[in-house]
Amino acid sequence: MSKKTLPLSSDELIELAGKVSTPFHLYDGDAIRLNARNLRKAFSWAPGFTDFFAVKALPNVNILRLLAAEGFGADCSSLPELVLAKEAGIPADRIVLTSNDTPDEEFRAAYEMGVLINLDDITHIDALERAIGTFPERICFRFNPGPERTGNAIIGNPVEAKYGVTRAQLATCYEKAREKGAKVFGLHTMVASNELNADYIVETARMIFTLCRTIAEDTGIRISFVDLGGGVGIPYRPEDESISFEYLSAEIRKLYESIIVPAGLDPLTVTFEMGRAITGPYGYLVSRVRHVASKYKKYVGLDACMADLMRPALYGAYHHITVLGKENMPADHVYDVTGSLCENNDKFAIDRRLPVVEKGDLLVIHDTGAHGHAMGFNYNAKLRHAEYLKLDGRILRIRRDETYEDYVRTMLFEPEEVL
Ligand SMILES: *Cc1c(COP(=O)(O)O)cnc(C)c1O
Repeated sequence: MSKKTLPLSSDELIELAGKVSTPFHLYDGDAIRLNARNLRKAFSWAPGFTDFFAVKALPNVNILRLLAAEGFGADCSSLPELVLAKEAGIPADRIVLTSNDTPDEEFRAAYEMGVLINLDDITHIDALERAIGTFPERICFRFNPGPERTGNAIIGNPVEAKYGVTRAQLATCYEKAREKGAKVFGLHTMVASNELNADYIVETARMIFTLCRTIAEDTGIRISFVDLGGGVGIPYRPEDESISFEYLSAEIRKLYESIIVPAGLDPLTVTFEMGRAITGPYGYLVSRVRHVASKYKKYVGLDACMADLMRPALYGAYHHITVLGKENMPADHVYDVTGSLCENNDKFAIDRRLPVVEKGDLLVIHDTGAHGHAMGFNYNAKLRHAEYLKLDGRILRIRRDETYEDYVRTMLFEPEEVL
């Protein structure tokens, strides 16, 4: 069981929602910081341990700064994310570019910035060299285990995945990179998404540690850092159990001591790229009820829509909902909780049992701290909303609401003739 809590008291949230316009995301920076510390503490035994926070999960510079101060790095999937990570003051040696189908200019920018490049394909070795005119000293490869692992429900089967190099290609990749001048080698994988079974992540560590040994035997190349990816799940449902960092760490430590140490590969830097597990549970979408409608079913219409949070509409994801001020009332009504988009799947919940909901009530949609605001879009000309950060006893605005001017910024009211 995971108790669904609020970052402020119900009354304080109601007061805040009276002061600023709804809807908005509120992130509990104190809780994120504590969570970040707990992860680092759990893995303090691991040489050079860090988490390259997956920027795509919550790409706000203020969050990245907060994590940077805790020794976190950044995992970037594009050039704008690289720039954002740098802007947040994260040192280059704690930034990794894990992209796929990578454009040359991204390779060039990453090289110039001095960040670690994680290659997604065997052909990218030459592509990178051509793009930058040399080869980096530090290089990493993304491994796709294919049929060796069954992926979990969200990410799908590794065999079907477009990412990474195959087992058969891996030794060649390292040898080729060495020929081109690489001296420091890393190994990365990412095979899970929102995985709540800690043992699945532990098995990933076993696979990667064993592979380090195999690579050393086959090529004489010593892997000096591993990146076990993200995908550590969070308990979206109250009945879900969260993954214990202490358990994960203790199990991975056993593998480190039984595989890495005897193979003479210690010290091996151990890193992750967790996004969701760092910030996910500490984000809250606060939204006001515009209308309550009775049709063939009962609907609660919010001022938020899937532009603010796509996960329920996109893959039927569960997000817990609290009706502020009605926490102690019985959940004896059944509603579909919707947004205002002209898409019938614009629903935050279907057939959800809630206390009686009235126009003007405030609803808190939980666990929006990762892959929430970030996934938003402007379809239907829906504008994305503000983000706030609770930190050290203050509530800070860290992103304002989008405006019509933002929406039309790239639109050319005077067309430009190009041909
Ligand atoms: C999305 C992604 C992550 C982060 O995943 P979470 O589920 O947020 O932990 C990490 N690494 C890569 C390569 C990703 O694509």
